[in-house]
Amino acid sequence: MNILLTNDDGIYAPGLAALQKELSRLGKVHLAAPATEQSGVGHSITFLEPLVCKQVFDKDVFRGYAVEGSPADCVKLGISVLFGTPIDLVVSGINGGLNAGINVLYSGTVAAAIEGAFFRLNSVAVSLEYDPHADFEMAARIAVRLIEQILRQQTSPPQLYNINIPSSAIKLARSGGHPKVHCVPMGVERYGESYIRRQDPKGRDYYWATNDPPPKRTEQPTDLTALADGHVTVTPLKFDLTDQSSLHEMRSWTMEL
Ligand code: MN
Repeated sequence: MNILLTNDDGIYAPGLAALQKELSRLGKVHLAAPATEQSGVGHSITFLEPLVCKQVFDKDVFRGYAVEGSPADCVKLGISVLFGTPIDLVVSGINGGLNAGINVLYSGTVAAAIEGAFFRLNSVAVSLEYDPHADFEMAARIAVRLIEQILRQQTSPPQLYNINIPSSAIKLARSGGHPKVHCVPMGVERYGESYIRRQDPKGRDYYWATNDPPPKRTEQPTDLTALADGHVTVTPLKFDLTDQSSLHEMRSWTMEL
């Protein structure tokens, strides 16, 4: 199996290295990742400028390509041009920080997986709750075990999946326990709309975005509620944004000019 691996934290991020090592159990890992951190860039691509791409070596061993672009650029360029072999699976991560709820739509990590889904490939985004001492090795073991199970049980055409791992699940796994895995929908509660206002030395206002307030807990289980309860989450996603029920209703409308 040929696996394209990318991320949005950049080619030197520890989450990428951990996943590269663990994914090599499943097949050949082809690495194309942003040269610099691209967190929060969503599904942006580079088309007003050339896309600079450099080979990266670990001592004398070729490691992969550092792309001076977005995560979606890496996947698009990787599948189309870089590797000269058909890609079977796209994996993005491990991101340092969860990508759940509406953050999925801001995420460069998830956008890279969505780009893989554009090519009708199985694509998986993996994110770990932010922790300055994050155990990406354990997270990679959990993620790859889940990816194996997804590929084994899937009966539908290739799909797009978003995996999130809370810190508490890592702690449990490290002590020999077995974190629960919940397949849940993406939460759609608005959150993180607070900004801290400060002044620069010239007296101009500037703003820092925060994650506050946290999302309200919903009755229906979502990725956000399951993560808050300490479970690993798997959410199937799709990139077709068409609202089918609205479209159905609109069939009886009159739209004339
Ligand atoms: Mn990131």
